[in-house]
Amino acid sequence: MAPQTQVIPLKIRKVIFEKFNDPNLRFTNDEIFEILKGEGLDSSLTIDDMEPYFKQLHEEGMIRPIAQNFTTQWFKIFDVVEKHDCKSCNQQVYLGKLEPRICPNPQCKTTI
Ligand SMILES: [Zn+2]
Repeated sequence: MAPQTQVIPLKIRKVIFEKFNDPNLRFTNDEIFEILKGEGLDSSLTIDDMEPYFKQLHEEGMIRPIAQNFTTQWFKIFDVVEKHDCKSCNQQVYLGKLEPRICPNPQCKTTI
């Protein structure tokens, strides 16, 4: 994977922390995609291109899919998301409370 796409899951984590950080809240891949586009996401990417990243965040234990209608997927977080300062890669990273305390930066993966 190119470095630019590697950071997409990290950006999705940040959006969830900032906008949807409530386990009772439902949010969609479309809502997050629109926010990321507003933040300068590569305009050639489509909602279909985002699917592997949401799948990754499900496998990593941050979000769970609750419904789907065509390309729109609804999600909830498993638990509250917390911000951490990773001292190894010097980045602010965002982890669900139930996730392992491992830096989600693919180039880091250090225990936090
Ligand atoms: Zn790190």
